Amino acid sequence: MALVVQKYGGTSVGSLDRIRMVAERVAETYREGHQVIVVVSAMAGETDRLLSMGWELCNAPAEREMDVLVSSGEQVSAALLAIQLNEIGVPARSMLGHQARIVTDSVHTKARIRTIDGTGLRSTLENGHVLVVAGFQGTDAYGNITTLGRGGSDTSAVAVAAAVKADLCEICTDVDGVYTTDPSVCPNARKIDRISYEEMLELSSLGAKVLQIRSVELAMKLGIPLHVRSSFSSSEGTIVTDEEHLLERVVVAGVAADKKTVKLTVRALPDHPGVVASVFEPLAEANISVDMIIQNVSKEGHTDLTFTVSREEADRAEAIATRIVDSVDAEGVTRDDEVAKVSIVGVGMRNHAGIAARMFRLLADADINIEAISTSEIKTSCLIEAEHADRAVVVLHDGFQLGKPSD
Ligand code: ASP
Ligand code: MG
Repeated sequence: MALVVQKYGGTSVGSLDRIRMVAERVAETYREGHQVIVVVSAMAGETDRLLSMGWELCNAPAEREMDVLVSSGEQVSAALLAIQLNEIGVPARSMLGHQARIVTDSVHTKARIRTIDGTGLRSTLENGHVLVVAGFQGTDAYGNITTLGRGGSDTSAVAVAAAVKADLCEICTDVDGVYTTDPSVCPNARKIDRISYEEMLELSSLGAKVLQIRSVELAMKLGIPLHVRSSFSSSEGTIVTDEEHLLERVVVAGVAADKKTVKLTVRALPDHPGVVASVFEPLAEANISVDMIIQNVSKEGHTDLTFTVSREEADRAEAIATRIVDSVDAEGVTRDDEVAKVSIVGVGMRNHAGIAARMFRLLADADINIEAISTSEIKTSCLIEAEHADRAVVVLHDGFQLGKPSD
């Protein structure tokens, strides 16, 4: 007998029919003799619907109330699934965040889990019940309802799995695993059998939308292997695990494109110590994360400083950069929204030379200009014109032979 946590995403519980299907699947695991905790998202589209109602009333609704509002989505799906499980003869109980004693900090709309007291969960399981836990939500130390950020049910599942020391944490979703790249861009993209936490983190942060980044961080920290698989089929998905548990360390595991990036350039900045700091300090104080940074070779004592930020933060970043232009005696700020970042990711890059060079050659042969480059141990990223993003992904995916062998 194993203790299994299964998380179902919004599409998987998106209608009553889907909820019936999920219930069948949970029942199957239960009838095999396992203990099951299910973590559910809100029905597809529900969180967006709730958010837009709050925003319709008010430009800046109180975040505390928004959390009360959106957490209702998961309350509904948890109850519906428990009702259906009971209906088909599987004893089940729903539990909201506070009932499952999921305690978070007080940062509304993007709270972090501090603790989960697994004893309540365990004793309900020991009574022979399937537990259906509402994902995405918790309460802070004062009893306020909090939510964990968009996609947060993944993180709920990992935290619950850790709290009860589950044997398995399955993330059941509308795709059958993690792919070498977005299959809608590259039809010969291949499902990855095993991927390391670190690679998954890079791919998630680059826009592979399968898992919330925080859930991967938490799984890595707590050493919980994740199985990302389809809710609608029984085929094996992708195991996200420690690098030591990979069968082989591929050089390039995947290719990702991030189209939600914006390039800002502070022009003709005087080139002397402290100027760069005076640009980035105010950005850091405003909690804006800067991604790529390039400083050009200085000409006549002046230099251009280019950096990228996410689209959500671009207006704020541009305003801040514009504000400091005068104080640092620069010429001005230019903004380019038509850029994309394409990246290759793989733990094998650590011990292989020449991978970045190969990437640059592949892009060059496709006549795609590189505007900026950044690297980490397991990733190389290039900033290019947005209109070439999809083509770049295909070129890199083919060039590194990541696709299914053609027949
Ligand atoms: N319902 C929340 C969202 O749409 C949380 C989740 O689905 O994981 O972001
Ligand atoms: Mg999700």
